[in-house]
Amino acid sequence: MLDRSVIVDVIGEIGEVFPLRADATIGRLAATWARVLHDVPAEALRRAARAYLSSDARWFPTPGQLRSLALSGCDPTGPDDTTPVGRYQVWLLAGGIGRDEPCPVCDSVLAADPRSGRMTVRHDHQRHYEAGVPYEGERTGPTYGQQMQPSADG
Ligand SMILES: [Zn+2]
Repeated sequence: MLDRSVIVDVIGEIGEVFPLRADATIGRLAATWARVLHDVPAEALRRAARAYLSSDARWFPTPGQLRSLALSGCDPTGPDDTTPVGRYQVWLLAGGIGRDEPCPVCDSVLAADPRSGRMTVRHDHQRHYEAGVPYEGERTGPTYGQQMQPSADG
């Protein structure tokens, strides 16, 4: 369980660079972030925050962005775009999830989920497994601490 004080620290650190929305409070944000980031190790989250601040991202991050960064093992000096993991992180940091640009690992693009109708990127598990790049996705992604496995059907 990620300690709430770590989340408050991280939000405060990011908030010095990217101002919080006027109606946001660290307390409310921390509660939401704690739900999203509950299984992320503290040190991985701190590295992700440093990587985010070292990138050319221009907006306050979503907890999901930091989660993906943390779980894909980012470098605190920013992603190394000469590696598949780094290219994925650059895509993530550039807001790739919210744009038309396909995932650099599996070429998946943002589309409506047929079940929920939510806009999401459904990554190709097999291609991510082969490239060794963890990802976050609706129920298809590995959770932290699990080994990535080739999919049974692919
Ligand atoms: Zn992908």
